[in-house]
Amino acid sequence: MRNNEVRLNSGYTMPVFGFGTYSAENDRETTEKAVQMALQMGYRHFDTAKIYGSEPWLGNALRKAISKGVIEREDIFVTSKLWSSDHTDPLSALNQTLLRLGMEYVDLYLVHWPVGLKKWANYPVPNEEDFDEEFDMEATWRGMEKCLQMGLCKSIGVSNFSTAKILSLLNFATVPPAVNQVEMHPMWRQRKLREVCGEHRIHVSAYSPLGGHGNAWGTTAVLDNPIIQSIAFKHNATPAQVALKWGLSKGSSVIVKSFNSRRLKENIGAMDLDLHDQDLLDIEKMEERKVMRGEFLANGTSSPYRNIMELWDDEI
Ligand code: NAP
Repeated sequence: MRNNEVRLNSGYTMPVFGFGTYSAENDRETTEKAVQMALQMGYRHFDTAKIYGSEPWLGNALRKAISKGVIEREDIFVTSKLWSSDHTDPLSALNQTLLRLGMEYVDLYLVHWPVGLKKWANYPVPNEEDFDEEFDMEATWRGMEKCLQMGLCKSIGVSNFSTAKILSLLNFATVPPAVNQVEMHPMWRQRKLREVCGEHRIHVSAYSPLGGHGNAWGTTAVLDNPIIQSIAFKHNATPAQVALKWGLSKGSSVIVKSFNSRRLKENIGAMDLDLHDQDLLDIEKMEERKVMRGEFLANGTSSPYRNIMELWDDEI
């Protein structure tokens, strides 16, 4: 295992530095170009989801690189996610994902959210009437386990699961989740979730590791924070590098999105940054803003994050 990888409880390794592909402005050309640049810079872990719309473009760029001999399929790690309107049939959903990616398997398949949506709610910002109150997580997880048995994915996991939801899943899971991908950055440190997941050998992967600015729910508060900025200044690094290295220092992988060549390079450069113990202590003292998505909802936007207070019941 290389030092830029983590071993999952499934036995497979995952590169700790992930390339995110969610962007409201996603288009084919920009996404494919960014994936090509990322590959050249050493990114090997690619994160997508049905609902991002980026699966075909990511798949296309990766397949091109494979056919040109730039990389081999075994050298890259591809994650995709089961959208909440497909919870009754993960197997068909994953088969569709594989068709869009043009791949025979994904390395990791995640349940995107612990909420169910009606069949028709095939869009990222559902309405109140789209929520399926009958959602049965146990049946969904059986479907995820079936995907694994069929060899359509190498590992299975979840996303946006609170500690209460992880513990409940472990009560009936034959195969425990390998990963829980959640929002995590210096202003939402997920201390309790990391502790509980650690006890059960579930790897916590950090999405929006810079605070997700540019997204409707995101914020520049992380990168603008004076503590992050002063640590960056001290190390001749950037605030983004400090935020990313903080996530890595907690044993998490980080899934960061940039389609810009300068920032792609800057971000992966975080691997070489050495944060001091005092830097980590200073970050621990930072004010947390873990209800950012709650604030976003309070502004009246309906979304799967609707019941965020319940999702993160044990975190707030
Ligand atoms: P993020 O990576 O924290 O932030 C992305 C934003 O930061 C973009 O606007 C990007 O713009 C900018 N950026 C990137 N590098 C920067 C740098 N060095 N300095 C300043 N700004 C920088 O947030 P995210 O996009 O929300 O999350 C990353 C990935 O996680 C997503 O793409 C997706 O794959 C995954 N995700 C998963 C979930 C889930 O529910 N499981 C939810 C959200 C996200 P440029 O592109 O212009 O550089």
